Amino acid sequence: MSVASWLVSKVKNWQIKREMGYPYAESRPDKQIAYVFDINKCIACQTCSVACKTTWTSGKGQEVMFWNNVETKPYGGYPLRWDLNILKRLNGQSWDKDGTYTGKTVFEAAPQGERVLGWLPGEEDYSYPNIGEDECSEIVERGDFFSGIHKVWMFYLARICNHCTYPACLAACPRKAIYKRKEDGIVLVDQSRCRGYRECVRACPYKKTFFNLVTRISEKCIGCYPLVEKGEQPRCVTTCIGKIRLQGFLSKPDSPRKDNPIDFLVYYKRVALPLYPQFGLEPNVYYIPPVHVPREFLYQMFGPGVDNAIETYRNAKNDKELLAVFMLFGSTNKIIHSFKVEKEYALGFDNSGELLARVPVYIRPYFDKKNGTYRHNIP
Ligand code: SF4
Ligand code: SF4
Ligand code: SF4
Repeated sequence: MSVASWLVSKVKNWQIKREMGYPYAESRPDKQIAYVFDINKCIACQTCSVACKTTWTSGKGQEVMFWNNVETKPYGGYPLRWDLNILKRLNGQSWDKDGTYTGKTVFEAAPQGERVLGWLPGEEDYSYPNIGEDECSEIVERGDFFSGIHKVWMFYLARICNHCTYPACLAACPRKAIYKRKEDGIVLVDQSRCRGYRECVRACPYKKTFFNLVTRISEKCIGCYPLVEKGEQPRCVTTCIGKIRLQGFLSKPDSPRKDNPIDFLVYYKRVALPLYPQFGLEPNVYYIPPVHVPREFLYQMFGPGVDNAIETYRNAKNDKELLAVFMLFGSTNKIIHSFKVEKEYALGFDNSGELLARVPVYIRPYFDKKNGTYRHNIP
C-alpha cells in the first residue's frame, strides 16, 4: 500500500483491527466522550434536532447547521448523499474474516497533496434537511406498479459529530484550529484561529463541520461541553423522546471497565457499533443496528460486527445485565459512570459512587390477559 509522505504516524485503530497512517501521533484522551444510540427505538420525532438547534445554532449564518440531524435511510441524507459520495470515492472496501479492514481509510486514500480523501458539499446539498423522510422506495415513474413481493424497509439514523479518536477535520486543518480535549476527547474548533478555508468541511466524511456564511468560519457540535463539565449529559441525549440515547465515557481499548455502561455495550457485549468504521476515524457514537434491515446494507454501514450485535440484542431479554443497561437509557440527565443490577433493579452511579438512577428491570408479558392485547418489547 503506498502511503502519502505526510502520514508520519502509525496509530492503532481498534475498530479496524490494525495500524493506520495519520498525520499526528496517537494521543488518546484519559476518557473519551461516547454515545450509544439504539436505532431500533428512534421514531424520528426530531426533538433532538430542535433541542440542539434552539440551544446552539439559532443565530445568523447558522440556518443550514444541524449539528444533530435525523435522516431516513436508505434514501435520506444531510447534506445530500453525504455517505454515498464518500463511499464511491473510497473504492474497494474489504474486510478479512477476522474483522481486519483491508481497504484504505480516508487518510490512506488521500490524493497527492491532500491529507484526507474528501469532498466539499455545494449550497444545494444543504437545501433539503429532511429529504426522503419515511421513504422506503426509490422514485417510481407514474404508471409503474409492482406486482411481486419485495422487502420494504427503512430506518432512522440520528447523527451528531462522532468526536472521533482520529478526527479528519483536525487532520485536514492547515491552521491547526481544531483540537481534541485531553480531559474528555471532545473535538472543538478554535474560532479565533479558524480562517474559513473549509478544509474541515471537505475532510469530515460524516459532514459534521459546517461553514457559517456570516462569520465565514467553521462551526461544529461542541458535545455540549458546558453540561458535560457539570456531569450532565448533552441536550440531544436528555431530550430524546424515544430514550434511544446514552452518553458516557469510553475507556481506552486496553483498559475497559465492565461496570461502565458504555464500555459494557461497546467492548464487552459488542452490541453497539461505530458508523462506517472503514473510514478510519474511530468514531465515538456507537449504534445498535436495526434488526429488520438487510444485512448487506448493515455490513457496509457498521462493519463486520453486525451479526453478533443483532444476535446479542435479540437475546437481551435473557441477559439481565444487558437489559439493565438498556433500562438506564434516558433515566437521568446526569452522566452514569458505573452501573450494577440489584435484585430487580438497575442502578446507575456518578463518578463518586452517588446513586443517580434506580429503574426496574422488567419485561412486559407478550400477551396481556387482562386487556386481551399483545405488547411488544424492544428488543
Ligand atoms: S429525539 Fe430521540 S427518538 Fe426523537 S428523533 Fe431524536 S433520537 Fe430519535
Ligand atoms: S465526525 Fe467529523 S467533525 Fe466530528 S470529530 Fe469526526 S471528523 Fe471531526
Ligand atoms: S452534543 Fe450538544 S452540541 Fe452536539 S449535537 Fe448534541 S445537543 Fe448539539
